[in-house]
Amino acid sequence: MGIKLEGRPVVQFLREDLKQRVSKLAEQGVTPTLLIIRVGEREDDISYQRGILKNCEILGIKSQVKVLLANVTLEELIDVIEDSNHSETIHGIMLFRPLPAHLDLDMISKVINPEKDIDCMSPINLEQVFRGNSKGFAPCTAKAVMEVLKYYNIPLRGASVVVAGRSLVVGKPLSMLLLDENATVTICHSQTKDIPSVTSKADIVVAAIGKAKFMKDEYFNPESIVVDVGINDDGEGKICGDVDFASVFDKVKAITPAVGGVGTITTTILLSHVVQACETLSIG
Ligand code: NAP
Repeated sequence: MGIKLEGRPVVQFLREDLKQRVSKLAEQGVTPTLLIIRVGEREDDISYQRGILKNCEILGIKSQVKVLLANVTLEELIDVIEDSNHSETIHGIMLFRPLPAHLDLDMISKVINPEKDIDCMSPINLEQVFRGNSKGFAPCTAKAVMEVLKYYNIPLRGASVVVAGRSLVVGKPLSMLLLDENATVTICHSQTKDIPSVTSKADIVVAAIGKAKFMKDEYFNPESIVVDVGINDDGEGKICGDVDFASVFDKVKAITPAVGGVGTITTTILLSHVVQACETLSIG
């Protein structure tokens, strides 16, 4: 019988630390403040925004939302970011993506102040991840995976870890974070031959490929620790992971569920970045 690695206890653990740090900042008269910039009315963004605002309240973080029309110009959006870069009362900036196609994300990501870039848009923050400098802001999902492994005391030093997926938001930065913890990391992708032969030999497998229930029991062994990052529609209106949880759960040592797993932690990581930014900007 596998162990379910739930995200909720990880969130509670992280929240305790964050609440203490927010109180400490309050003693100095500072409240960490997040600015969300939303372009248009995408349902996904609105729902994500709701979750973030609820979590801000729980943690005592102030939040502001700037909504721009879907046809906003690049110049107007850049102006909003630059104003926020210079604001003394805003510590973290979160721009919802994807943006409408006419807005050049590459250009925008270079404008955001790296010290306020809590969602790791800036190439400067990404570079820090690849340099192994933990002072910047790593992508939240990659960091959420690291927090799960840490909370459940899963040893990384010398462990063989396979990351399936090489995107710039999950697979690649996560591989670097794992490498920093002295794991031996293998990255698989859509062109990798015979992935089960690679993953089934690993101690830890992280699935981040965006394919519903794709990885079945032949991808694992009875001692596998599986972290499923995937959030997919199962075709019947339900969320499922990249791993076929029902058929794999009994055949591995431990696995994160698709609902209540890694995704649960991401927002808390984002808000931990707001607190970190506030500490850096107001205390130095
Ligand atoms: P992505 O940008 O679409 O990247 C998918 C990666 O998986 C690519 O590197 C691709 O390889 C690889 N891949 C695709 N099919 C494959 C296959 N059959 N075998 C091996 N590798 C394959 O996706 P993403 O943004 O990294 O997201 C991955 C998953 O995580 C999605 O389900 C997404 O919804 C989820 N996600 C969850 C959170 C969260 O908070 N939990 C946050 C972000 C994303 P190539 O590079 O060769 O194309």
